[in-house]
Amino acid sequence: MGSPSPHAVLIAAELQPFLEPDQLVGLDVTWLPHAEPTPKGDFVAIVPLLSRWVGGTELKRLPKLKLVANCAVGHDNVDVVAAEMRGVKVTNTPDVLTDATADLTWALILACARRVVEGNDVVNRRQWTGWHPTLLLGIELRGRTLGLFGAGRIGQAVGRRGVAFGMRIIYAARNARPEFERDTRAERVERSRLFRESDVLSLHVPSLPETKGMIDSDALRQMKPTAILINTARGDLIREEALAAALEEGRLGAAGLDVYSDEPAINPRLLAAPRTVLLPHIGSATHETRRQMAAIAVANVQAVLKGEPPLTPVFH
Ligand code: NAP
Repeated sequence: MGSPSPHAVLIAAELQPFLEPDQLVGLDVTWLPHAEPTPKGDFVAIVPLLSRWVGGTELKRLPKLKLVANCAVGHDNVDVVAAEMRGVKVTNTPDVLTDATADLTWALILACARRVVEGNDVVNRRQWTGWHPTLLLGIELRGRTLGLFGAGRIGQAVGRRGVAFGMRIIYAARNARPEFERDTRAERVERSRLFRESDVLSLHVPSLPETKGMIDSDALRQMKPTAILINTARGDLIREEALAAALEEGRLGAAGLDVYSDEPAINPRLLAAPRTVLLPHIGSATHETRRQMAAIAVANVQAVLKGEPPLTPVFH
């Protein structure tokens, strides 16, 4: 038996169509379909999808691992503490998905504000009986307040688009963003003011112990009964039972969601709730972005295997 390849890597099989042979030169690739468990072996790098948990058990089964090159900007599917303890680097794919995710956030905002999905349903079900002055009335965005929870790359991109819609921007974050404030006249506010004043509240923080469940029944009670809640960040930021209750009881205007706490399962109460637009986690799903995400993930592998620093480490 020969000795194990020094460049044996596991790459999510679903990324294969986005990668060119020259990006994989020098790598001994095992393509790993998402339904298969992470194997044991002498692999030096893994490029997982965000649906694959890479925790202590997986890391123990991969004793030669140097790098987890996550194919996403979020990295809540990786136990970064366990990785660091084993000297395994973790990288993500920032920036390239910012515009795609901000655009999708706006698709949800507009769909909720202007009842796009309900309109589509009326037409498809052959229930449209003609123009009517009170048919599917929505809300006007100009002059209303767009609240951003988190003003990092995606939050700011969503806010910048909001200016073109004539919205006032407020945001809550640990650090002020002076350039963003200057460009958009955004105002940094406390969390409770964000909840109370937003006509559209859009979530853009990572899933962390301190952000999980931050939209709970208390937060929802503070929000305007007409407010639109948008989540293109991570599902576990929202307590879904509390959200379903607020929608059922008419205490929230609408919810536009791309992410859920137990994907791909969706809380049945949320599925049945009124005034929702529910998408299947497609924030970064454009041809261009998916190709760039795969390219960055593999470029990180190539860099680390050459002994160079990773291009986009999760922690510096
Ligand atoms: P980012 O640039 O790192 O921005 C994250 C923001 O969250 C920053 O403003 C950060 O600012 C704030 N933040 C971090 N920890 C916080 C805390 N404990 N409390 C309050 N604010 C906190 O990330 P991004 O590129 O904008 O991505 C944001 C998230 O979007 C990702 O983590 C990912 O989960 C999600 N995402 C989803 C999709 C999708 O397909 N739906 C696609 C891409 C990304 P401060 O440090 O100043 O607070």
